[in-house]
Amino acid sequence: MKLIDKYNRVHNYLRISLTDKCNFNCIYCNPSDGDHFLVSKNNILTYEEILRIIHIFADKLEFKKIRFTGGEPLVRKSVFEFFNEVKKIKDKFNLQLGITTNGTLLEGNAQRLKNTGIEKLNISLDSLKPELFYKITGRNNLQNVLDAIDESVEAGFDPVKINMVVIKNINDNEILDFVEFIKNRNLNVRFIEFMPFGNNQWARDGFISFDEMKNLIESKYILKPLITDVNEVAKDFSIEGYEGKVSFITSMSEHFCNTCNRLRITADGKLRLCLFSTGEKNIDFKALFKNNYSDNEIVQLLLEAIIFKWEKHPEAEELTILEHNNMLKIGG
Ligand code: SAM
Ligand code: SF4
Repeated sequence: MKLIDKYNRVHNYLRISLTDKCNFNCIYCNPSDGDHFLVSKNNILTYEEILRIIHIFADKLEFKKIRFTGGEPLVRKSVFEFFNEVKKIKDKFNLQLGITTNGTLLEGNAQRLKNTGIEKLNISLDSLKPELFYKITGRNNLQNVLDAIDESVEAGFDPVKINMVVIKNINDNEILDFVEFIKNRNLNVRFIEFMPFGNNQWARDGFISFDEMKNLIESKYILKPLITDVNEVAKDFSIEGYEGKVSFITSMSEHFCNTCNRLRITADGKLRLCLFSTGEKNIDFKALFKNNYSDNEIVQLLLEAIIFKWEKHPEAEELTILEHNNMLKIGG
């Protein structure tokens, strides 16, 4: 059985937030002076509950891809042991597993992560300059993250994807440095348009669009478009003579809602039909488990909920007023 919405979009990709806690305070995601709406520990999904959710989606709804995110997924206790349990479901249903991490806890653990069967690794990195890295994240971990990237390439993640959120007058003058960074490395740097959330002071002034970024890169390099899967959100390019690739995630200027195949589960077990939605048809997995719903009953609720998925997310200014929308909790 497939989870299809009223716009005929087949959903087969689940992103699960393992925690809303993070060891960084990125200015665009978890500003230190903001109200974080952190979920209390008791309300966080247990590993057993997450395993059951993954099993339901893989077994009953033909889901093919799972990505772990957060907050910072690797700060959660015993997370590698959890990944080993997920591997059993992966092997049974031939799932593709991925993770998005800030990389700080990856150093010394990349091979261990690879051994858990996670194949798709995205590491966030917004600056190659120590001072700016500190200004953006509130931490001095640049070298630590760079070492984790090298270690991950060595461990065989192919390619390691580097997520850079580009913000005007903050790190946009490093776009070309990031292109040079991938010259001799098997990395895929992804320039991400800054997205508005209730807690990140989004302003049109800080936004730099795909066109602007691409024009800047093309003033110095020749970008060759690569063919990508229809559900892929990134626009991918190669550069002659460069080992790595560059991509753009254009969530704001050219949204990709019409091919969206994703659902999200928040750290406290709520279904999100869209990154920007506010829980319009709130399925609360924790409550369902507590009330002894069977897997089939849960599937039925999901089939009903998917009908409510909107065709596309609203415009940026509207999104900024969704106060309780917070990337940390939903998971990026
Ligand atoms: N802590 C992990 C990390 O930073 O990779 C995983 C969670 S983070 C919320 C997932 C991704 O969302 C990161 O690549 C981050 O850069 C991106 N992100 C967070 N806030 C964003 C925003 N306002 N606009 C665009 N991307 C954002
Ligand atoms: Fe933490 Fe990732 Fe958000 Fe930065 S982007 S604050 S590392 S969750």
